[in-house]
Amino acid sequence: MRGLNVEVDLFDRLATPWGLMRFGVAPDHQDTKGVTRQFNRTAARDGLTFHLNVELGKHVTHEQLLAHHHAVIYAIGASRSRSLGIPGENLPGSHSATDFVAWYNGHPDFVDMKFDLSGERAIIVGNGNVALDVARILASDRKHLAKTDIADHALAALASSNIKEVLVLGRRGPLEAAFSTPELLALANRPDFEVIINEENLSSLNPDAVSMTGLKLELLREIARRPRRGVAKSIVLKFLRSPVEILGAQRVNGIRVMRNELGTDGGRLSTRATGDVAEIACGLVLRSIGYRGTPIQGLPFDDTKGTLPNDEGRVFDPLTNQPVVGVYTTGWIKRGPSGVIGTNKRCAHETVKSLVDDYISGRLSAPVHDGEELRGLIDKQQREAIDYVGWQAIDKHEVAAGAELGRPRVKLVDVAEMLAIARNAEMGSRG
Ligand code: NAP
Repeated sequence: MRGLNVEVDLFDRLATPWGLMRFGVAPDHQDTKGVTRQFNRTAARDGLTFHLNVELGKHVTHEQLLAHHHAVIYAIGASRSRSLGIPGENLPGSHSATDFVAWYNGHPDFVDMKFDLSGERAIIVGNGNVALDVARILASDRKHLAKTDIADHALAALASSNIKEVLVLGRRGPLEAAFSTPELLALANRPDFEVIINEENLSSLNPDAVSMTGLKLELLREIARRPRRGVAKSIVLKFLRSPVEILGAQRVNGIRVMRNELGTDGGRLSTRATGDVAEIACGLVLRSIGYRGTPIQGLPFDDTKGTLPNDEGRVFDPLTNQPVVGVYTTGWIKRGPSGVIGTNKRCAHETVKSLVDDYISGRLSAPVHDGEELRGLIDKQQREAIDYVGWQAIDKHEVAAGAELGRPRVKLVDVAEMLAIARNAEMGSRG
Protein backbone atom coordinates (compact mmCIF):
# COMPACT_ATOMS: atom_id res chain seq x y z
CA MET A 1 0.00 0.00 0.00
CA ARG A 2 1.79 3.14 -1.25
CA GLY A 3 2.59 5.64 1.54
CA LEU A 4 1.58 3.24 4.33
CA ASN A 5 4.08 1.17 6.27
CA VAL A 6 2.07 -2.00 6.71
CA GLU A 7 2.96 -5.10 8.72
CA VAL A 8 0.99 -8.28 8.00
CA ASP A 9 0.87 -11.48 10.06
CA LEU A 10 -0.47 -14.44 8.09
CA PHE A 11 -1.93 -17.33 10.10
CA ASP A 12 -2.89 -20.80 8.88
CA ARG A 13 -3.88 -23.78 11.00
CA LEU A 14 -2.10 -26.05 8.50
CA ALA A 15 1.66 -26.47 8.24
CA THR A 16 1.62 -25.29 4.61
CA PRO A 17 0.24 -22.11 3.04
CA TRP A 18 -1.91 -21.41 -0.10
CA GLY A 19 -5.12 -23.19 1.07
CA LEU A 20 -7.23 -23.59 -2.08
CA MET A 21 -4.19 -23.77 -4.38
CA ARG A 22 -2.75 -26.74 -2.53
CA PHE A 23 -5.90 -28.51 -1.34
CA GLY A 24 -8.65 -27.44 -3.76
CA VAL A 25 -7.27 -26.98 -7.28
CA ALA A 26 -7.03 -30.32 -9.09
CA PRO A 27 -3.52 -31.87 -9.22
CA ASP A 28 -3.60 -31.97 -13.04
CA HIS A 29 -4.27 -28.20 -13.21
CA GLN A 30 -0.66 -27.15 -12.65
CA ASP A 31 -1.04 -24.01 -14.80
CA THR A 32 -3.60 -22.67 -12.32
CA LYS A 33 -1.17 -23.38 -9.48
CA GLY A 34 1.41 -21.15 -11.18
CA VAL A 35 -0.12 -18.23 -9.27
CA THR A 36 1.80 -19.46 -6.19
CA ARG A 37 4.94 -17.91 -7.77
CA GLN A 38 3.25 -14.54 -7.26
CA PHE A 39 2.27 -15.55 -3.69
CA ASN A 40 5.91 -16.42 -2.96
CA ARG A 41 7.11 -13.03 -4.23
CA THR A 42 4.61 -11.33 -1.90
CA ALA A 43 5.52 -13.62 1.00
CA ALA A 44 9.22 -12.74 0.67
CA ARG A 45 8.55 -9.02 1.17
CA ASP A 46 9.54 -7.25 4.37
CA GLY A 47 6.68 -6.77 6.77
CA LEU A 48 4.98 -10.10 6.07
CA THR A 49 5.32 -12.80 8.76
CA PHE A 50 4.06 -16.39 8.44
CA HIS A 51 2.59 -18.25 11.42
CA LEU A 52 1.76 -21.68 9.99
CA ASN A 53 0.49 -24.58 12.09
CA VAL A 54 -1.25 -22.04 14.33
CA GLU A 55 -4.97 -22.55 14.84
CA LEU A 56 -7.52 -19.88 15.63
CA GLY A 57 -9.45 -20.80 18.77
CA LYS A 58 -6.78 -23.29 19.88
CA HIS A 59 -3.49 -21.39 19.88
CA VAL A 60 -4.75 -17.85 19.47
CA THR A 61 -8.16 -16.22 19.87
CA HIS A 62 -9.90 -13.63 17.75
CA GLU A 63 -9.66 -11.14 20.64
CA GLN A 64 -5.89 -11.71 20.91
CA LEU A 65 -5.44 -11.14 17.18
CA LEU A 66 -7.38 -7.91 17.35
CA ALA A 67 -5.45 -6.72 20.42
CA HIS A 68 -2.19 -7.04 18.42
CA HIS A 69 -3.35 -5.51 15.11
CA HIS A 70 -5.38 -2.64 13.71
CA ALA A 71 -7.46 -5.12 11.74
CA VAL A 72 -8.03 -8.83 11.17
CA ILE A 73 -9.05 -10.15 7.74
CA TYR A 74 -10.72 -13.57 7.65
CA ALA A 75 -9.95 -15.45 4.43
CA ILE A 76 -10.83 -18.90 5.76
CA GLY A 77 -12.78 -20.14 2.73
CA ALA A 78 -15.73 -22.51 2.79
CA SER A 79 -14.56 -26.03 3.47
CA ARG A 80 -17.72 -27.90 4.47
CA SER A 81 -20.03 -29.59 1.99
CA ARG A 82 -23.69 -28.70 1.66
CA SER A 83 -26.00 -31.63 2.32
CA LEU A 84 -28.67 -33.18 0.09
CA GLY A 85 -31.05 -34.04 2.92
CA ILE A 86 -32.13 -37.36 1.36
CA PRO A 87 -32.26 -40.86 2.89
CA GLY A 88 -29.05 -42.86 2.65
CA GLU A 89 -26.83 -39.78 2.36
CA ASN A 90 -24.61 -40.98 5.21
CA LEU A 91 -24.27 -44.62 4.17
CA PRO A 92 -20.70 -45.92 3.85
CA GLY A 93 -19.71 -45.36 0.22
CA SER A 94 -21.51 -41.98 0.04
CA HIS A 95 -19.08 -39.10 0.51
CA SER A 96 -18.92 -35.41 -0.17
CA ALA A 97 -16.74 -34.40 -3.12
CA THR A 98 -15.20 -31.94 -0.64
CA ASP A 99 -13.69 -34.88 1.29
CA PHE A 100 -12.59 -36.68 -1.88
CA VAL A 101 -10.83 -33.54 -3.18
CA ALA A 102 -9.08 -32.97 0.16
CA TRP A 103 -8.00 -36.66 0.16
CA TYR A 104 -6.49 -36.70 -3.34
CA ASN A 105 -4.82 -33.36 -2.71
CA GLY A 106 -3.05 -34.64 0.42
CA HIS A 107 -4.83 -32.56 3.09
CA PRO A 108 -3.36 -33.96 6.35
CA ASP A 109 -6.81 -34.27 7.97
CA PHE A 110 -8.07 -36.56 5.17
CA VAL A 111 -5.08 -38.86 4.60
CA ASP A 112 -6.69 -41.81 6.37
CA MET A 113 -10.00 -41.64 4.53
CA LYS A 114 -10.94 -44.69 2.48
CA PHE A 115 -12.94 -44.57 -0.75
CA ASP A 116 -14.20 -47.88 -2.11
CA LEU A 117 -13.14 -47.91 -5.75
CA SER A 118 -13.93 -51.60 -6.27
CA GLY A 119 -17.28 -51.09 -8.05
CA GLU A 120 -17.54 -50.44 -11.78
CA ARG A 121 -19.69 -47.30 -11.56
CA ALA A 122 -19.29 -44.14 -9.48
CA ILE A 123 -22.03 -41.51 -9.42
CA ILE A 124 -21.39 -37.84 -8.89
CA VAL A 125 -24.36 -35.73 -7.82
CA GLY A 126 -24.15 -32.15 -9.13
CA ASN A 127 -22.45 -30.94 -12.29
CA GLY A 128 -20.39 -27.89 -11.35
CA ASN A 129 -16.66 -27.56 -12.07
CA VAL A 130 -15.78 -29.48 -8.89
CA ALA A 131 -17.90 -32.39 -10.16
CA LEU A 132 -15.94 -32.35 -13.44
CA ASP A 133 -12.61 -32.21 -11.55
CA VAL A 134 -13.63 -35.24 -9.50
CA ALA A 135 -14.96 -37.13 -12.54
CA ARG A 136 -11.70 -36.47 -14.42
CA ILE A 137 -9.53 -37.66 -11.54
CA LEU A 138 -11.62 -40.84 -11.18
CA ALA A 139 -11.45 -41.59 -14.91
CA SER A 140 -7.80 -40.69 -15.54
CA ASP A 141 -5.28 -43.44 -16.07
CA ARG A 142 -2.25 -43.86 -13.83
CA LYS A 143 0.15 -42.40 -16.41
CA HIS A 144 -1.73 -39.09 -16.44
CA LEU A 145 -2.02 -38.86 -12.64
CA ALA A 146 1.60 -39.86 -12.06
CA LYS A 147 2.75 -36.63 -13.77
CA THR A 148 0.86 -34.48 -11.25
CA ASP A 149 1.27 -33.62 -7.57
CA ILE A 150 -1.64 -35.84 -6.51
CA ALA A 151 -1.02 -37.31 -3.04
CA ASP A 152 0.83 -40.63 -3.17
CA HIS A 153 -1.89 -42.48 -1.23
CA ALA A 154 -4.50 -41.34 -3.78
CA LEU A 155 -2.27 -42.22 -6.73
CA ALA A 156 -1.86 -45.76 -5.38
CA ALA A 157 -5.58 -46.20 -4.68
CA LEU A 158 -6.69 -44.78 -8.04
CA ALA A 159 -4.13 -46.85 -9.94
CA SER A 160 -5.88 -50.00 -8.78
CA SER A 161 -9.40 -48.61 -9.11
CA ASN A 162 -12.01 -50.80 -10.78
CA ILE A 163 -14.23 -47.89 -11.81
CA LYS A 164 -15.11 -47.95 -15.51
CA GLU A 165 -17.92 -45.43 -15.64
CA VAL A 166 -18.33 -42.11 -13.85
CA LEU A 167 -21.90 -40.90 -14.11
CA VAL A 168 -22.40 -37.17 -13.49
CA LEU A 169 -25.99 -36.18 -12.62
CA GLY A 170 -27.25 -32.62 -13.14
CA ARG A 171 -30.67 -31.70 -11.81
CA ARG A 172 -31.30 -29.09 -14.52
CA GLY A 173 -30.93 -29.20 -18.29
CA PRO A 174 -27.64 -29.29 -20.23
CA LEU A 175 -27.60 -25.57 -20.91
CA GLU A 176 -28.19 -24.73 -17.25
CA ALA A 177 -25.36 -27.03 -16.10
CA ALA A 178 -23.04 -25.28 -13.63
CA PHE A 179 -19.81 -26.50 -15.29
CA SER A 180 -18.02 -24.05 -17.56
CA THR A 181 -17.43 -24.67 -21.27
CA PRO A 182 -13.57 -24.65 -21.02
CA GLU A 183 -13.74 -27.32 -18.30
CA LEU A 184 -15.99 -29.50 -20.46
CA LEU A 185 -13.69 -28.94 -23.43
CA ALA A 186 -10.71 -30.10 -21.34
CA LEU A 187 -12.52 -33.38 -20.66
CA ALA A 188 -13.65 -33.93 -24.20
CA ASN A 189 -10.38 -34.87 -25.89
CA ARG A 190 -8.58 -37.15 -23.49
CA PRO A 191 -7.06 -40.38 -24.81
CA ASP A 192 -7.61 -42.33 -21.59
CA PHE A 193 -11.40 -41.88 -21.30
CA GLU A 194 -14.33 -40.70 -23.36
CA VAL A 195 -17.21 -38.41 -22.52
CA ILE A 196 -20.66 -39.73 -23.35
CA ILE A 197 -23.86 -37.73 -23.70
CA ASN A 198 -26.96 -39.42 -25.06
CA GLU A 199 -28.54 -37.26 -27.76
CA GLU A 200 -31.99 -37.65 -26.16
CA ASN A 201 -30.55 -35.55 -23.30
CA LEU A 202 -30.24 -32.62 -25.67
CA SER A 203 -33.75 -32.88 -27.11
CA SER A 204 -35.70 -30.63 -24.74
CA LEU A 205 -33.77 -27.40 -24.39
CA ASN A 206 -34.77 -24.11 -22.92
CA PRO A 207 -35.10 -21.81 -26.00
CA ASP A 208 -33.86 -18.70 -24.13
CA ALA A 209 -30.69 -20.48 -23.05
CA VAL A 210 -30.10 -21.83 -26.56
CA SER A 211 -29.60 -18.32 -27.88
CA MET A 212 -27.23 -17.40 -25.00
CA THR A 213 -25.02 -20.45 -24.78
CA GLY A 214 -23.89 -21.06 -28.35
CA LEU A 215 -20.48 -22.54 -27.63
CA LYS A 216 -21.62 -24.78 -24.78
CA LEU A 217 -24.47 -26.15 -26.89
CA GLU A 218 -22.23 -26.70 -29.90
CA LEU A 219 -19.78 -28.67 -27.75
CA LEU A 220 -22.51 -30.73 -26.07
CA ARG A 221 -24.01 -31.62 -29.45
CA GLU A 222 -20.63 -32.46 -30.93
CA ILE A 223 -19.85 -34.79 -27.99
CA ALA A 224 -23.30 -36.42 -28.23
CA ARG A 225 -22.74 -37.21 -31.94
CA ARG A 226 -19.32 -38.79 -31.45
CA PRO A 227 -19.01 -42.50 -32.17
CA ARG A 228 -17.87 -44.49 -29.12
CA ARG A 229 -14.15 -45.15 -29.08
CA GLY A 230 -14.53 -48.12 -26.77
CA VAL A 231 -11.80 -47.00 -24.36
CA ALA A 232 -11.74 -48.59 -20.92
CA LYS A 233 -13.24 -45.66 -18.99
CA SER A 234 -15.98 -43.15 -19.61
CA ILE A 235 -17.59 -40.11 -18.06
CA VAL A 236 -21.33 -40.03 -18.75
CA LEU A 237 -23.16 -36.73 -18.41
CA LYS A 238 -26.86 -37.06 -17.61
CA PHE A 239 -29.19 -34.14 -17.13
CA LEU A 240 -32.58 -33.42 -15.54
CA ARG A 241 -32.06 -36.03 -12.81
CA SER A 242 -32.35 -35.41 -9.05
CA PRO A 243 -31.31 -37.98 -6.46
CA VAL A 244 -34.17 -38.90 -4.13
CA GLU A 245 -32.48 -41.70 -2.16
CA ILE A 246 -29.07 -43.29 -1.84
CA LEU A 247 -29.65 -47.03 -1.72
CA GLY A 248 -28.01 -49.85 0.21
CA ALA A 249 -28.35 -51.77 3.48
CA GLN A 250 -24.80 -51.79 4.92
CA ARG A 251 -23.25 -49.63 2.22
CA VAL A 252 -24.09 -47.88 -1.04
CA ASN A 253 -25.22 -50.10 -3.89
CA GLY A 254 -27.21 -47.63 -5.95
CA ILE A 255 -29.12 -44.41 -6.19
CA ARG A 256 -32.78 -43.64 -6.90
CA VAL A 257 -33.26 -40.67 -9.21
CA MET A 258 -36.25 -38.62 -10.26
CA ARG A 259 -36.49 -37.37 -13.84
CA ASN A 260 -37.17 -33.64 -14.01
CA GLU A 261 -38.52 -31.50 -16.81
CA LEU A 262 -37.92 -27.87 -17.56
CA GLY A 263 -40.77 -25.44 -17.14
CA THR A 264 -41.42 -21.87 -16.14
CA ASP A 265 -42.56 -20.61 -12.80
CA GLY A 266 -43.81 -17.00 -12.80
CA GLY A 267 -41.82 -16.36 -15.98
CA ARG A 268 -38.63 -17.88 -14.50
CA LEU A 269 -37.08 -21.12 -15.70
CA SER A 270 -37.56 -23.94 -13.23
CA THR A 271 -37.44 -27.74 -13.03
CA ARG A 272 -40.40 -29.90 -12.14
CA ALA A 273 -40.26 -33.50 -10.91
CA THR A 274 -42.06 -35.75 -13.39
CA GLY A 275 -42.73 -38.60 -10.93
CA ASP A 276 -40.69 -40.88 -13.19
CA VAL A 277 -38.23 -42.64 -10.87
CA ALA A 278 -35.37 -45.01 -11.77
CA GLU A 279 -32.65 -46.87 -9.87
CA ILE A 280 -29.03 -46.89 -10.97
CA ALA A 281 -26.52 -49.33 -9.50
CA CYS A 282 -23.18 -47.97 -8.27
CA GLY A 283 -20.52 -48.62 -5.65
CA LEU A 284 -19.61 -45.03 -4.82
CA VAL A 285 -21.56 -41.77 -4.59
CA LEU A 286 -19.79 -38.41 -4.41
CA ARG A 287 -22.00 -35.44 -3.59
CA SER A 288 -20.63 -32.39 -5.36
CA ILE A 289 -23.33 -29.85 -4.56
CA GLY A 290 -21.33 -26.86 -3.33
CA TYR A 291 -19.45 -25.76 -0.25
CA ARG A 292 -20.36 -23.90 2.97
CA GLY A 293 -18.33 -21.75 5.34
CA THR A 294 -18.13 -22.38 9.10
CA PRO A 295 -18.78 -19.76 11.81
CA ILE A 296 -15.98 -18.13 13.81
CA GLN A 297 -16.56 -18.00 17.53
CA GLY A 298 -17.54 -14.52 18.66
CA LEU A 299 -18.34 -13.19 15.17
CA PRO A 300 -21.72 -12.88 13.42
CA PHE A 301 -22.56 -15.54 10.83
CA ASP A 302 -25.10 -15.76 8.03
CA ASP A 303 -26.32 -19.33 8.40
CA THR A 304 -28.33 -19.31 5.19
CA LYS A 305 -25.42 -18.34 2.96
CA GLY A 306 -22.70 -19.88 5.15
CA THR A 307 -20.72 -16.61 5.08
CA LEU A 308 -19.61 -13.78 7.37
CA PRO A 309 -22.18 -11.00 6.85
CA ASN A 310 -20.29 -8.09 5.30
CA ASP A 311 -20.51 -4.93 3.29
CA GLU A 312 -17.64 -4.67 0.77
CA GLY A 313 -15.54 -6.85 3.08
CA ARG A 314 -16.42 -5.03 6.35
CA VAL A 315 -17.94 -7.64 8.65
CA PHE A 316 -21.13 -6.27 10.19
CA ASP A 317 -23.52 -7.41 12.85
CA PRO A 318 -26.97 -7.97 11.29
CA LEU A 319 -28.63 -7.37 14.67
CA THR A 320 -27.31 -3.80 14.94
CA ASN A 321 -26.45 -3.30 11.25
CA GLN A 322 -23.16 -1.82 12.48
CA PRO A 323 -19.67 -2.90 11.33
CA VAL A 324 -17.64 -5.00 13.77
CA VAL A 325 -14.72 -2.60 14.20
CA GLY A 326 -11.44 -3.91 12.78
CA VAL A 327 -12.88 -7.13 11.29
CA TYR A 328 -12.86 -7.82 7.54
CA THR A 329 -13.31 -10.77 5.25
CA THR A 330 -12.42 -11.92 1.75
CA GLY A 331 -12.82 -14.96 -0.53
CA TRP A 332 -15.48 -17.68 -0.21
CA ILE A 333 -16.22 -16.92 3.46
CA LYS A 334 -17.07 -13.37 2.30
CA ARG A 335 -19.16 -14.00 -0.81
CA GLY A 336 -19.95 -17.74 -0.86
CA PRO A 337 -18.39 -20.57 -2.86
CA SER A 338 -18.37 -19.19 -6.37
CA GLY A 339 -16.02 -17.77 -8.96
CA VAL A 340 -12.62 -18.64 -10.35
CA ILE A 341 -9.20 -17.80 -8.91
CA GLY A 342 -9.14 -14.30 -10.42
CA THR A 343 -12.46 -13.50 -8.73
CA ASN A 344 -10.65 -13.73 -5.38
CA LYS A 345 -8.14 -11.07 -6.42
CA ARG A 346 -10.89 -8.54 -7.17
CA CYS A 347 -12.65 -9.59 -3.98
CA ALA A 348 -9.48 -9.00 -1.90
CA HIS A 349 -8.92 -5.59 -3.53
CA GLU A 350 -12.37 -4.48 -2.43
CA THR A 351 -11.77 -5.63 1.16
CA VAL A 352 -8.34 -4.00 1.43
CA LYS A 353 -9.76 -0.75 0.06
CA SER A 354 -12.45 -0.79 2.77
CA LEU A 355 -9.80 -1.46 5.43
CA VAL A 356 -7.47 1.30 4.26
CA ASP A 357 -10.36 3.79 3.95
CA ASP A 358 -11.36 2.96 7.54
CA TYR A 359 -7.77 3.36 8.75
CA ILE A 360 -7.31 6.71 7.02
CA SER A 361 -10.59 8.05 8.36
CA GLY A 362 -9.71 6.99 11.93
CA ARG A 363 -12.33 4.25 12.28
CA LEU A 364 -9.82 1.62 13.51
CA SER A 365 -8.48 1.26 17.06
CA ALA A 366 -4.71 1.13 17.51
CA PRO A 367 -3.43 -2.26 18.72
CA VAL A 368 -2.83 -2.60 22.46
CA HIS A 369 0.25 -4.85 22.00
CA ASP A 370 3.16 -4.77 19.56
CA GLY A 371 4.70 -7.35 17.21
CA GLU A 372 7.27 -8.47 19.80
CA GLU A 373 4.47 -9.32 22.21
CA LEU A 374 2.64 -11.21 19.44
CA ARG A 375 5.71 -13.35 18.76
CA GLY A 376 5.99 -14.04 22.53
CA LEU A 377 2.34 -15.09 22.63
CA ILE A 378 2.65 -17.46 19.65
CA ASP A 379 5.89 -18.96 21.04
CA LYS A 380 4.09 -19.67 24.30
CA GLN A 381 0.88 -21.03 22.79
CA GLN A 382 2.27 -23.09 19.88
CA ARG A 383 5.88 -24.24 20.06
CA GLU A 384 5.43 -25.94 16.69
CA ALA A 385 4.59 -22.86 14.65
CA ILE A 386 6.27 -22.75 11.22
CA ASP A 387 7.55 -19.54 9.63
CA TYR A 388 8.31 -18.66 6.00
CA VAL A 389 11.83 -20.09 6.17
CA GLY A 390 10.31 -23.35 7.38
CA TRP A 391 7.75 -23.38 4.57
CA GLN A 392 10.45 -22.67 1.96
CA ALA A 393 12.35 -25.74 3.22
CA ILE A 394 9.22 -27.93 2.99
CA ASP A 395 8.53 -26.58 -0.50
CA LYS A 396 12.10 -27.24 -1.63
CA HIS A 397 12.00 -30.75 -0.21
CA GLU A 398 8.74 -31.57 -2.04
CA VAL A 399 9.87 -30.09 -5.35
CA ALA A 400 13.21 -31.97 -5.19
CA ALA A 401 11.39 -35.26 -4.48
CA GLY A 402 9.10 -34.56 -7.45
CA ALA A 403 11.98 -33.70 -9.82
CA GLU A 404 13.42 -37.20 -9.42
CA LEU A 405 10.13 -38.64 -10.70
CA GLY A 406 9.22 -36.03 -13.33
CA ARG A 407 6.45 -34.63 -11.12
CA PRO A 408 5.89 -31.00 -10.00
CA ARG A 409 6.32 -32.10 -6.37
CA VAL A 410 5.67 -35.01 -4.06
CA LYS A 411 3.46 -33.64 -1.31
CA LEU A 412 4.28 -34.36 2.30
CA VAL A 413 1.17 -35.29 4.27
CA ASP A 414 2.71 -36.06 7.65
CA VAL A 415 2.83 -32.92 9.79
CA ALA A 416 5.63 -34.31 12.02
CA GLU A 417 7.82 -34.80 8.94
CA MET A 418 7.08 -31.28 7.72
CA LEU A 419 7.87 -29.92 11.16
CA ALA A 420 11.23 -31.69 11.29
CA ILE A 421 12.23 -30.23 7.88
CA ALA A 422 11.03 -26.76 8.88
CA ARG A 423 12.86 -26.86 12.25
CA ASN A 424 16.13 -27.80 10.60
CA ALA A 425 15.88 -24.88 8.20
CA GLU A 426 14.75 -22.39 10.84
CA MET A 427 17.67 -23.35 13.12
CA GLY A 428 20.06 -23.05 10.16
CA SER A 429 18.76 -19.58 9.30
CA ARG A 430 19.34 -18.38 12.88
CA GLY A 431 22.94 -19.62 12.64
P1 NAP B 1 -21.28 -25.03 -8.17
O1 NAP B 1 -20.69 -24.51 -9.41
O2 NAP B 1 -22.17 -24.14 -7.37
O3 NAP B 1 -22.06 -26.37 -8.54
C1 NAP B 1 -22.86 -27.04 -7.59
C2 NAP B 1 -23.66 -28.11 -8.30
O4 NAP B 1 -24.46 -28.79 -7.34
C3 NAP B 1 -24.63 -27.55 -9.35
O5 NAP B 1 -24.72 -28.44 -10.42
C4 NAP B 1 -25.96 -27.55 -8.57
O6 NAP B 1 -27.10 -27.60 -9.39
C5 NAP B 1 -25.80 -28.84 -7.80
N1 NAP B 1 -26.70 -28.94 -6.65
C6 NAP B 1 -26.81 -28.12 -5.60
N2 NAP B 1 -27.74 -28.58 -4.73
C7 NAP B 1 -28.21 -29.73 -5.28
C8 NAP B 1 -29.21 -30.65 -4.88
N3 NAP B 1 -29.88 -30.51 -3.74
N4 NAP B 1 -29.46 -31.72 -5.68
C9 NAP B 1 -28.77 -31.88 -6.83
N5 NAP B 1 -27.83 -31.04 -7.27
C10 NAP B 1 -27.56 -29.96 -6.50
O7 NAP B 1 -20.17 -25.49 -7.11
P2 NAP B 1 -18.79 -26.26 -7.26
O8 NAP B 1 -18.76 -27.17 -8.40
O9 NAP B 1 -18.55 -26.78 -5.89
O10 NAP B 1 -17.74 -25.09 -7.57
C11 NAP B 1 -17.57 -23.97 -6.67
C12 NAP B 1 -16.91 -22.81 -7.42
O11 NAP B 1 -15.56 -23.14 -7.72
C13 NAP B 1 -17.60 -22.51 -8.74
O12 NAP B 1 -17.62 -21.13 -8.94
C14 NAP B 1 -16.70 -23.18 -9.76
O13 NAP B 1 -16.75 -22.62 -11.06
C15 NAP B 1 -15.32 -22.96 -9.12
N6 NAP B 1 -14.38 -23.97 -9.62
C16 NAP B 1 -13.71 -23.69 -10.77
C17 NAP B 1 -12.85 -24.62 -11.31
C18 NAP B 1 -12.15 -24.31 -12.59
O14 NAP B 1 -12.31 -23.23 -13.11
N7 NAP B 1 -11.36 -25.22 -13.10
C19 NAP B 1 -12.67 -25.86 -10.70
C20 NAP B 1 -13.38 -26.13 -9.54
C21 NAP B 1 -14.25 -25.17 -9.00
P3 NAP B 1 -27.80 -26.22 -9.89
O15 NAP B 1 -26.85 -25.63 -10.91
O16 NAP B 1 -29.08 -26.67 -10.45
O17 NAP B 1 -27.93 -25.34 -8.67
